[in-house]
Amino acid sequence: MASRDPLEILARRLAQRQSQGLLRRLVGVGPACGPHVVVGGKPCLLMASNDYLGLAGHPRLAQAAQAACLASGTGSGASRLVSGNLEAHQVLEKQIAAFKETEAALFFPTGYMANLGAVSGLAGPGDLIISDQLNHASLIDACRLSRATVKVYAHGDVEAVRRLLADAPPQGLTLVVSDGVFSMDGDLAPVPELLAAARQAGALLLIDDAHATGVWGARGRGSIEHFGLTPSPDMVMVGTFSKALGGLGGFVAGHSLVVQTMVNNARSFIYTTAPPPSQAAAAGEGLRLVDEEPWRRGKLHQLCAYFRKRLDQAGFSLGSLAGPIIPLLVGPADKAMTMGLALQERGVLAPAIRPPTVPEGTSRIRLTVTAAHSEEDLDQAVLALVMAAQEAGL
Ligand SMILES: *Cc1c(COP(=O)(O)O)cnc(C)c1O
Repeated sequence: MASRDPLEILARRLAQRQSQGLLRRLVGVGPACGPHVVVGGKPCLLMASNDYLGLAGHPRLAQAAQAACLASGTGSGASRLVSGNLEAHQVLEKQIAAFKETEAALFFPTGYMANLGAVSGLAGPGDLIISDQLNHASLIDACRLSRATVKVYAHGDVEAVRRLLADAPPQGLTLVVSDGVFSMDGDLAPVPELLAAARQAGALLLIDDAHATGVWGARGRGSIEHFGLTPSPDMVMVGTFSKALGGLGGFVAGHSLVVQTMVNNARSFIYTTAPPPSQAAAAGEGLRLVDEEPWRRGKLHQLCAYFRKRLDQAGFSLGSLAGPIIPLLVGPADKAMTMGLALQERGVLAPAIRPPTVPEGTSRIRLTVTAAHSEEDLDQAVLALVMAAQEAGL
């Protein structure tokens, strides 16, 4: 009989993960942010960060955070609904709403918590959520937390969404949820078609633009702007400051009734301490820089095109996608691990992404380009990728 010793059980489970090539380990990265880091004492080119505009190292974000720390301290002391609703939060929320062109917005400690709060705050028992199969884990967790009926549709399949909407019970709220840009594949959701389908059925559409805010659209407003849409009361926009905006924190932007609902129902907003003013100050500065330094977005897309061309010339198949997330499909988890480690030995950090983050059999190296890279950096990455692919037998 197997032992009931809890630590033995944990050890056995971890060993099983390891035998499947699925064990996760933390890798120390430092000392600064930006594409040139040190990993295990060795200089390394970072090709895995979501700091798309290179703002995480921008002195104005650091100065804004420092000034807020010195003026207001490091902790907000309580939940927003108790005594933690500081001026910095309110100023930032006005700024988010103006940026996203919505009536109102609400700041959360992280994007993960914004999704938990948005979905489970809007929909509950008796309601219906229709969710893309490849949505981010935070949306999946949010659907579970809501205790609403959840229907999952095949990735990007708008016809399936229409069918599910047609079957929606007449009572209760219906919410269609999708990443705007999918985090592990880098492709865009069919936002205009999803919106039309949701609108026709009287449903709300929630778009998680974690990877699109600052990156997509002429002014970096996200997937909505990319598709030539403007926000409407039947859309809920989720975003994060932790990727292109160079800071930390999430937000929900939309109609004021949506935001009031968050304040009343979103447990990840209510039952957590308000983010410190320094976090809000850095976030606000990130938003300002999206407008004040538009060259960063231009440079990012230019570098993405360059990198894709060089990868194509080197024989990697990339499909027709654009944008800074570039998945190199490997397949089996152990092979992707081999490739990731071979890359690291050649001074490039782009770890393997394995199940359950991605579906079984689609393990990959997920590469990301940022405005802080140079063409020389990307040339170096291509060279390392060619050698690592050979080593992994691809
Ligand atoms: C990263 C990510 C989140 C979570 O954002 P954090 O601010 O890192 O918690 C949510 N949704 C998507 C699609 C993401 O990629």
